[in-house]
Amino acid sequence: MLRFLSSLQARLVAGFALALSVALLSVGWYVSGEAGREAERSEALRMEARVQRVRSALDERLAEGRGWSGIQPDVERLGRLLSARVLVWDGNEKLIADSHKMLGPRVWDSGENWGAQLVTEDGDAIGTVALMSLRPFPGAELLEPVDSDLADHVSAALLWAGLAAGGVGIIAVALMSRRALAPVRALSAAAEKLGGGDLSQRVLPSSGDEIGRLGHAFNRMAEDLESAERQRKALLADVAHELRTPLSNIGGYVEAMRDGLAEPNGENLEIVRQQVSQLTRLVEDLRLLTLAESGALELHVNPESMNDLLVSVSEAFGPRARANAVAVSYEPAPGIPLALMDRGRVEQVLQNLVENAVTHAPTGGAVTLQLSMGDAGSVRVSVRDTGEGIDEEALEAVFERFYRVDPSRSRATGGAGLGLTIAKQLIEAQGGRIWAESEPGQGSAFIFELPSAGKRE
Ligand code: ADP
Repeated sequence: MLRFLSSLQARLVAGFALALSVALLSVGWYVSGEAGREAERSEALRMEARVQRVRSALDERLAEGRGWSGIQPDVERLGRLLSARVLVWDGNEKLIADSHKMLGPRVWDSGENWGAQLVTEDGDAIGTVALMSLRPFPGAELLEPVDSDLADHVSAALLWAGLAAGGVGIIAVALMSRRALAPVRALSAAAEKLGGGDLSQRVLPSSGDEIGRLGHAFNRMAEDLESAERQRKALLADVAHELRTPLSNIGGYVEAMRDGLAEPNGENLEIVRQQVSQLTRLVEDLRLLTLAESGALELHVNPESMNDLLVSVSEAFGPRARANAVAVSYEPAPGIPLALMDRGRVEQVLQNLVENAVTHAPTGGAVTLQLSMGDAGSVRVSVRDTGEGIDEEALEAVFERFYRVDPSRSRATGGAGLGLTIAKQLIEAQGGRIWAESEPGQGSAFIFELPSAGKRE
């Protein structure tokens, strides 16, 4: 009950009831006031007309020369006829007739009296006639129907009509608000379950109004949470998986040496060292990726010459490429502006791309580095190889964590599928973009663009 009273629906109904009461009270107050005033106006008009009738009757009697004698029965008849108390005074202001004598001397105290002077043709005052409503005398024999009851009737009718309309209105608002708030209730129930860890919670799409939009936003949020949770679990599983192989290799070698099954010679120790350095690289890659993804990576962005960087990277890869019988070449383009970049981080990206290209290029193949202008005045670098290429669907996926096109081959080279993910994070953190193009069988190209500093080299 307490829960219902503090609910939005209860507040809506209470607000409606309050607005309705204020509207009814003000309409009632205005209408009954107007009805009362109208009743008084029509009463005044009627009494005026009656006064005129009494006056003409008395004028007639005076014209016939009957004077005031025997006037009392005539006035009583007039009183009955007009349903009002009729009083007549002579020229000396002496009361000479009262149609309702039995009502006593309370004659002028009601305030609702209408009177007229009786004058001769010459304009001399010869008397006064007054009419009095019988209303101030409850129980009077000739009590007339009272007009001002109209106001009370109107008020009562308004009250009942208002109560009926209010009752129906409150029921209608309660039903409608219950219906309208059903999606909100569903949302809060779903949000509670979501908070409790059930990330599969979704609400049914409702109307296109604000509540409907809230529902869509909730579903999107729940979807994002669920996918983040999925990614977190997948990441943990991947990390555990990546750690397991080198760790079990190390464990295996160390145990074999302890048990005398393998010699602790240079060759075996070198294998252990390689596994340790693979682990170290993996941990370092993960740390860098986490920093880049959370935006906490410190970057030193300056206008730098991409040309210089490409010359130095292509030269550094010479010996390694020659060992693989792969030709690494760089084609500089003139007039390319300086790039806004963190030189060290871009060098890291280039090393990864060229390393991948050299690894994937066949014996006798070629790796070509190119510098050109990119979209919107940016500086574009591409690293092309003549390797086996990448399938259409793997082109996007290669930038995902731990994704490997050919897991056995990658593991042999020590790659954990993090190199391109880190490259993407580093390039995007510097306001650039990176993507891959490929013609399977012909080779692949990894291309990135970085904002230019505007200045020519
Ligand atoms: P890794 O460190 O394991 O090489 P990367 O993130 O650098 O991981 O690469 C992801 C996947 O993309 C790898 O499986 C790799 O085989 C593939 N790949 C990267 N560069 C190329 C390329 N030049 N040609 C073909 N495949 C590539």
